[in-house]
Amino acid sequence: MSHFAHARVDLDAIAHNARLLRECAGGTPLMGVVKADGYGHGMLPAARALIAGGATWLGTAFIDEALELRRAGLTLPVLAWIIPPGEPVAEAVEADVDLGVSDRAVLDTVIAEAVRLGRTARVQLKADTGLNRGGVNPADWRNLVDAAARAEDEGHLRVCGVWSHFACADEPGHPSIALQLSRFHEALEIADKAGLDPEVRHIANSAALLTLPEARFDLVRGGIAGYGLCPIPDFGATGLRPAMTLRSRIALTKRVPAGSGVSYGHRYVTDRETTLALVPLGYADGVPRAATNKGPVLLGGRSRVISGTVCMDQFVVDVGDDTVEAGEYAVLFGDPGEDPGVPTAEDWARILDTIPYEIVTRVGVRVPREYV
Ligand code: PLP
Repeated sequence: MSHFAHARVDLDAIAHNARLLRECAGGTPLMGVVKADGYGHGMLPAARALIAGGATWLGTAFIDEALELRRAGLTLPVLAWIIPPGEPVAEAVEADVDLGVSDRAVLDTVIAEAVRLGRTARVQLKADTGLNRGGVNPADWRNLVDAAARAEDEGHLRVCGVWSHFACADEPGHPSIALQLSRFHEALEIADKAGLDPEVRHIANSAALLTLPEARFDLVRGGIAGYGLCPIPDFGATGLRPAMTLRSRIALTKRVPAGSGVSYGHRYVTDRETTLALVPLGYADGVPRAATNKGPVLLGGRSRVISGTVCMDQFVVDVGDDTVEAGEYAVLFGDPGEDPGVPTAEDWARILDTIPYEIVTRVGVRVPREYV
């Protein structure tokens, strides 16, 4: 573990964001999405902060993540949605984890485990309305719904939810959005005709939650926005507060002459005598190597750019003739509302042609999370 670097996670910011998302969604219940270690923020602290802000559901990708929430004593409804063969379905049934059902094989496995355990499994049927990823195709939906309805009548499962997921909600006005919504309505109608009466119907992720009142249904699933980052580029002010600040103390500084090639490949060459500051964070810690000569850093009160190649454990910043000393903080991203001038994870995403999700989830295990 690095003693120099840490990711500071502001739990009040996460709770604030959850409250804001509930307001944005007109009070619709909120599922806080905490997969991938709470988008890199730490799953359990993030979950508790989201709950403090009003989330009444949690969502994970995998059953193991959901079971960790249960082991931590969290008893609210939890949905896990990626269930490859061999996943601990029986444990999930025993722990009352809602299982996202994306195909017939998963449904059959869940029913078999429920029968074996003598329990009623909680399932949520997922309709593929156009993402063409997980979820049941429209052509197979009626069969799946009928099979689930039969198993519900036999007491093996309870269909607690019917849901779907958008492909392009982060591009407001994209024609696929309306199409997915209308297919979702069709899927709900088929479920209704089969006698299913789910507690929750849901399709909205953060982007839809922020832009599409007609996509709220009974529950909205807030992931990235809960961590204070906007999924829609150039969306404008949201009132969300970025929860993670990634920063590191400078390990050393040194003077070098003009013409010095810096870091692997000499992809940066000093154009004058200058001071270099060494920041002990690298691609193993989640600073993408693609940030070579591009990544923004706030250092010594000024916005600067990484100089040369990002290495596994470190990178260099040319600070010119400024007085910068070992032990001072270099801040890679954070909340400009708290730390004026600091880049955001959204800035990093824009500069590196990726999405803020990738920036925060990449922060590696060597970087301790510090909760405030
Ligand atoms: N629902 C599902 C099925 C997801 O896979 C995700 C995340 O990718 C979310 C909701 C949350 O999405 P977002 O972080 O964009 O709010």
